[in-house]
Amino acid sequence: MKGGEGTVGREIEVPNPNNGQPCKSVTLEDLKGKMADFAKERDWDQFHSPRNLLLALVGEVGELSEIFQWKGEVPKGLPDWKEEEKLHLGEELSDVLLYLVRLSDICGVDLDKAALRKVELNAIKYPVKQCKGYKTAEEDV
Ligand SMILES: [Mg+2]
Repeated sequence: MKGGEGTVGREIEVPNPNNGQPCKSVTLEDLKGKMADFAKERDWDQFHSPRNLLLALVGEVGELSEIFQWKGEVPKGLPDWKEEEKLHLGEELSDVLLYLVRLSDICGVDLDKAALRKVELNAIKYPVKQCKGYKTAEEDV
């Protein structure tokens, strides 16, 4: 978020949102409400224009990219990563998600519906019959 940096290497008291209980599932609507409250409480609505939010989102994608920069290909599940690296990754993934949710809200786009519609459109564009078993050029040699 605004001024956000990873917590890696910083002393920061992070509140436990669930009092030590396992996290319950969260919906995009929950996040939308939390982001709206967060901005309103800080009088940040004035800064949350579509353009500003888009640029903030792109900046967070850059921060997310930095985590993977120069590591080469990494295996799924990131088994060799330290816990603090995964924590940082979770923070940057969250920054991207939260700005995306906020941007869609400010633009009046129902992200739930839009995302589901896009999955359907992708299914039409990429039929299973034509895609399943597809091999890369390297595998096909
Ligand atoms: Mg960030």
